[in-house]
Amino acid sequence: MSQPVVVTLFSGGLDSAVLTHERIVQYGADRVVGVFFDYGQRGRAAETLAVTTLASLWKMSVRVLAIRDAFAEFRSGLLPGLGQPEIFRDRPLTEIKKDLQGYGERTYVPFRNAIFLSLAVGLAESLGVERIEIGVKGDVGFDVSARFVAAFEAMARVGSRTQDRLQIAAPLIGRTKADIIRYALAHGFFGLTYSCYSGEVPPCGWCDACRERKVAADGV
Ligand SMILES: [Zn+2]
Repeated sequence: MSQPVVVTLFSGGLDSAVLTHERIVQYGADRVVGVFFDYGQRGRAAETLAVTTLASLWKMSVRVLAIRDAFAEFRSGLLPGLGQPEIFRDRPLTEIKKDLQGYGERTYVPFRNAIFLSLAVGLAESLGVERIEIGVKGDVGFDVSARFVAAFEAMARVGSRTQDRLQIAAPLIGRTKADIIRYALAHGFFGLTYSCYSGEVPPCGWCDACRERKVAADGV
C-alpha cells in the first residue's frame, strides 16, 4: 500500500465528496485518507452511508472517529441528544427554526471545525501525512473562513512535529456551488452524497443545505 499524502475531512456531503474526489484524481485513491466524524449529528446515519458508499466506489480508505460523547453538551440545532437544551432536544429542525433566528443558533456547532482539524492533524502526523484538506467554502459560519483555516494552520505548524511542512488547505473557498454540483454530476456521484442537516431520508428539502443545493442545481 502506498504512503498516503493527504487527509481529507469527509462527511459524505457534496462539498467534501468533491474535495475528496479531486484529491483521488490528483494523487490516486491509495494516497488519500478520508476522515469521518460521528459526533452525534442528526445526519450521522445517512452521512455514514454516503461515506461508506463513496469510499467503496472509489476504493479509498476512510477512518471513522466516534466522538459523540464529547459533543453531548454542545449547543446546536444539528445535535438532537440528551445533553441539548430543551429547545433542541428531539425536535425537528423545522420547529427549532421557528423559535430561533439566525445561522448561529441553528446549524453552527461550537468550534466544530477546529476540533475536527485538531484530530485530523494528530491522525495525519501519525500516518506521516503533511497535508490536510477541509471542504469549507468560506461563506456562512465562524469556522469556515480562509482566515480561520490560515490561523489554524499557523497554530498547528507551531504545535506539531510536522512543523512548517504541514499544510492545511480549503480549496473550495471561492468555488461556486453550481461549479461543485457540475463536478459531482460529471463524475456521477452527485446523488450519492448527503448534505441535509435534518438527517431525514430522503433529504428534507428545506434546511439551509438542501435549499443551497436545490438553488444551485436549478442553475446548473
Ligand atoms: Zn435538508
